Amino acid sequence: MKKLIGFISLFIVILLGVNLIDKDNYISYIEFYKKVNNKEIDTIFYNNSDKIKFKEKNNDTVFITDNPRTENFKQEMLINGIDFKEQLNIGNSLTAILTIILISSLIFVIYKKNKKNTILVKEFNTEDKNNIFFKDIAGNEEAKENAKDIVDFLKYPEKYEKLNARTPKGIIFYGEPGTGKTMMAKAIASEANVPFYSVCGSDFMEMYVGVGASRVRNLFKKARENKKAVIFIDEIDAIGKKRSNSLQNSNEEREQTLNALLTEMSGFSKDENIVVIAATNRIDILDDALIRAGRFDRHIEIGLPDKVAREKILTLLLENKKTDKTIDIKDIAKKTIYFSGAMLDSLVNEASIIAIKDNKEEINITHIDKAYLKILAGDEKKDKSFLNSKDKKIIAVHEAGHAIVTKVLNVATISKISIIPTIKGAGGFCVNIFEDNLFKSKKELENQIISLYGGRCAEEIIFGNDNVTTGAYNDIEKATNIIIDYISKYGMDNNILNYKMLNEDKNIIEQYKNLSNILYEKCKNILLNNINNLKILSNELLEKEVLNEKEIYSILKD
Ligand code: ADP
Repeated sequence: MKKLIGFISLFIVILLGVNLIDKDNYISYIEFYKKVNNKEIDTIFYNNSDKIKFKEKNNDTVFITDNPRTENFKQEMLINGIDFKEQLNIGNSLTAILTIILISSLIFVIYKKNKKNTILVKEFNTEDKNNIFFKDIAGNEEAKENAKDIVDFLKYPEKYEKLNARTPKGIIFYGEPGTGKTMMAKAIASEANVPFYSVCGSDFMEMYVGVGASRVRNLFKKARENKKAVIFIDEIDAIGKKRSNSLQNSNEEREQTLNALLTEMSGFSKDENIVVIAATNRIDILDDALIRAGRFDRHIEIGLPDKVAREKILTLLLENKKTDKTIDIKDIAKKTIYFSGAMLDSLVNEASIIAIKDNKEEINITHIDKAYLKILAGDEKKDKSFLNSKDKKIIAVHEAGHAIVTKVLNVATISKISIIPTIKGAGGFCVNIFEDNLFKSKKELENQIISLYGGRCAEEIIFGNDNVTTGAYNDIEKATNIIIDYISKYGMDNNILNYKMLNEDKNIIEQYKNLSNILYEKCKNILLNNINNLKILSNELLEKEVLNEKEIYSILKD
C-alpha cells in the first residue's frame, strides 16, 4: 500500500512538472502571428496537442503558443520560410503512459490485496513464541495432565515411533466459554517449543464455495513448513456442526471446508508432528465424521472451575496485585460458584479499577464486592429519578418474596438484596450463593423452582392477582427450564424416561403445568406463613434500598 501511495505521489509530481514546463515561455497567438509576419520565427515544433513550440532566429529559447489547428497552418508557415518539424506530443504521451502505468498498478494492487484477503490469508494469527505456560493455568488438573502427554508427543516423537504408537493428531477441547481452552492450547505450544497458529472456525466461512477449503490448505501449508506446530481452531462448530439435509450454499461451503480439513489431517507424513486442537462449547453438536477415530479423537473437557480451582485461579490472578488483609481468597472462591476463569479475571480486574477510582493503593473486599455485583447484575443505574414510589414498592415486595422463600427452604445463602435497577435491565436483584454440588437432588430442584416463584407470589399476595407485574418474566423462564429438565430429562416425575428423546408425548405439557401449579402453591403457603417477615423486609428495603447478608439475616432470624 505504501508503495502505491509513493507511486501516486511521484505520478502527480511528474504530471505537474510536465504541465509546468508547458507553462514556461508562453506567448499569445497574436504575438506569435506578428513574429511570423516579421519573419522572426526559425522553427516550429508541431504536434497535435493544444500547444505548439517554436524557436526564434538567433535565439535557442523554446517558446510556446496555442495551436490554431487550422487546415493550412503548415502550408502558411512553410510559405513564410519557417522550418516545420512534426513530432510526438511528449507531454501528452508521458501523461498517457504514466496514467496507464498508474491504472495498471492500481488494478494489480487491488487484485493482489483481494486475493490475499479473500482466498489465502484471512490472517492466521501466528505466534512463534507466546508467553503462556502450564504454570499460568490454575486448576483444570486433569486437562493439564492430558495436555502434558501432547507436549511429550511433540517433543519426543521418536519415543512413540519406536513402538509404532499412533499419536493423536486431532484434539478437541470442550467446555464453557472462558474456561481457558485457548490458554491450554497456547501452553502446549510453548511447553513443546513449537509455533502456534490460531484461527477461528468462522474465519473459514465465506459466501463463496471453495474459499474456506483453500484457506484450510494454506493454513496447513504454513504449519507444515515448520514440521512441528500446534494449530488451534477456535469455535470449530462453525465448520464442524452436524450436517443438515438442507441444500443451502453455506452448507456446501461448510462441507468443502470440513473435507479439506479432514484431508489435510490425514495427509500428515511421518516426519511431520503437527497437532490440531479444536475448541468448542458443545461437543454434542459436532459432526460424527469429525470426532471419529483417527480424526479429532481425543476429547478433553475444560470445564468450569470448582471451589478449589477457583481459589487457585484467584491466587494466581491476585499474585501481582496489592491486596489488604480484608481479602479472604477462600471466601471469594466460595461466593463465585459458576464463574469461569475469564469471569474471575474480570472480577479481579474490575476490583483493581474500582480501587484506583477510590484512590486506594490496595484492593480491599469492598472493591471485590462491588466488582462482583457489577459482573453478576451490571452497573447500578446512576439516575434513579425515573423510578416512582409505586415501582419501588413492587420491586421491594418482589425481592423480599425471593429472599424469604430462599431462606425458609435453605436454597442458598443470600448475600445481598438491592432494589436499585441495573443497566442490564434488572429491576432489583437478590444475590444467592449456592453450594458446589456435583449433583442436584429432586428436592433441591423443586426448592429452586419455588424460590424462583417467590417474587411473583409475593406480588400476588400483597397487591392482588390482578396487579401482578411483568417483573417476573425472567424468573418464569428459568423456572420453566428447570421444570422441563425435571420431567423430560431427569425422569423425576412419575415416569423415569427421557421425553426429549421420545419427542412426542402429548400429555407432557399437562405434566409441566401440574408440577408448576403444585410448586407455586407451596410457595404461596411459605409466604402466607411468613407474611409479617415479608412486610418487614420489603419496608426495610424501601428504606435502605440495599441490604447485605448480615442485615438480611438479622431481619429474618425468626
Ligand atoms: P476459552 O478459550 O475457553 O474461551 P480463554 O483461554 O480465552 O478461554 O480464557 C480467557 C481468560 O480467562 C484467560 O486469558 C485468562 O485470563 C482467564 N483464565 C481462564 N481460565 C483460567 C485458568 N484456569 N487459570 C488462569 N486464568 C484463566
